[in-house]
Amino acid sequence: MKRFIFSILLTIVCTLVFAQTGRLHNNMVLRDPFYLDTTSVDFQNILHLWNDYKDCVFDDWMISQDNNKIDVNSKAILFWEESERQKYGQIGSLQGNPDLFLRTFQLEPTNYFMGKELFIGVEKRNDTLFELRTMFFDDYPTENQLAGVYTIPIIKHSENDYKFFSKLSLLEPTFQSYKLGWLTFMYPRTYNFNETAAQQTFKLLDGIAETLQLEQPNSVVYYLFDNKTEFYHSLGVDVSPYDFIGCSRVYPQGLCLDNGKILFFTKEGETLAHELIHCLIREKGWKYTMFEEGLCSYYGGHALESKEVTLSNLKLWLNENPQIDLSLDLFKADFSDFTNNYSYALQMVVCEMIHHTGGMKMAFDILYSISEGEDGYFVIAKHLGFKKKNINNIIRDYLNKNY
Ligand SMILES: [Zn+2]
Repeated sequence: MKRFIFSILLTIVCTLVFAQTGRLHNNMVLRDPFYLDTTSVDFQNILHLWNDYKDCVFDDWMISQDNNKIDVNSKAILFWEESERQKYGQIGSLQGNPDLFLRTFQLEPTNYFMGKELFIGVEKRNDTLFELRTMFFDDYPTENQLAGVYTIPIIKHSENDYKFFSKLSLLEPTFQSYKLGWLTFMYPRTYNFNETAAQQTFKLLDGIAETLQLEQPNSVVYYLFDNKTEFYHSLGVDVSPYDFIGCSRVYPQGLCLDNGKILFFTKEGETLAHELIHCLIREKGWKYTMFEEGLCSYYGGHALESKEVTLSNLKLWLNENPQIDLSLDLFKADFSDFTNNYSYALQMVVCEMIHHTGGMKMAFDILYSISEGEDGYFVIAKHLGFKKKNINNIIRDYLNKNY
């Protein structure tokens, strides 16, 4: 009898335990992916939209190759919401659509739109907001590499009218902002913003704007993020091979979009004026030469490193490589073992020499005196009164004496 009661109790206990486990198990069931059924009308419409869009990007790109210039009548731009076109869609160095991720990587559209694609699906957020998710492989030069996994929000206006929207614009209402004259900083709520540094940067920029005689520079928005992952996510890049740089994910690098929008993705971006100086230079007139990088790095910082550190590293590296003749060519030297950007650093030295001769005004005057295709470096040498054959010794002696 005792044994019978015991086995009944055991059965009850076991039943309860299994029932509990079942409940636990139910709680742990992973959420079904909420991708739309591929037969649904929305999915079909969005897939067609996406395929048409890629065709247009390709056509725009081909036309720009034929004309050797950007096509002002870009077709791809029409796939974007009007507000996005206003905000990001100015004709730029690419095909003139607001593909922030393309601009971010500064790659030709061919790398993505002609590469292999794995279309993942379409998620439905609500009746009017969808998110398209896709993956591209970069097949250049010989093997497939993941180019990235992307999310593009899509707004549905009607059954026949869907428009792309940027992830950044969706996130922006949750950001904090800090405005200084023509410059507005934007950052996620979790970002620890340095107001003092931002004010100092703005003061420097105002001085440069004055040198350039820009009375009221165009407004600029400066986005700051704690790390590269957050920066990429804000542009709709879910996974990118470029994200895995260092365990801190804080890779110091800025980006200046040609329509004056700036994205800077690491901490301490508010201490750097580099990209903002590019913006002011663009506003005054487009004259990109390598010297511009030296100028932006010298006055505005480079890779979150002080110029003393960059230039003393350059000095050491040049001393270890006496075979490099700076009088022959500044860009052909193999600089793979120089930790920072060699050509930027060299232009920084030149900028410093000019600065010591005629101040910031002279540096900017020289920048604007270099015409397109001209060898900027030797134009600069001319202003400083160097002879081409002496440049190698002059730069090396200068660095050895000062750093
Ligand atoms: Zn730069």
